[in-house]
Amino acid sequence: MDCIFCQIVDGKIPSEIIYQDEEAIAFPDIQPQAPVHLLIVPKRHIPSVAHLAEAASALVGHLVNIANQLAENEGISESGYRLAINCGKEGGQAVPHLHLHLLGGRELSGKLG
Ligand code: AMP
Ligand code: ZN
Repeated sequence: MDCIFCQIVDGKIPSEIIYQDEEAIAFPDIQPQAPVHLLIVPKRHIPSVAHLAEAASALVGHLVNIANQLAENEGISESGYRLAINCGKEGGQAVPHLHLHLLGGRELSGKLG
């Protein structure tokens, strides 16, 4: 498996894991686009949000709960932040392993598309 995020989950690629539970991990984005830019990633290899079956849809809620907690830890829960999931080529997804971006720490661009 040459998936970058699976390799981070397995500890084969080093990363600064800032959160971890049975289902998910979180670490800083290697090319941060804001002062706070974290990735929240399920441990299971799910290629994209489009591949989430109904049975696994609760997982996204779990990822959002983690993101909210990390935003609190980073001190940006009051100032505001953005959660983003890119899906597929035209959705700007570069890494084909489901992940949630947490961005904040400055006024973000209003552009979403
Ligand atoms: P996306 O375009 O939504 O697929 O986002 C993929 C993100 O993963 C990008 O923001 C990359 O900077 C980030 N990324 C790629 N490789 C790594 C890595 N080894 N560690 C941390 N972040 C990474
Ligand atoms: Zn993977």
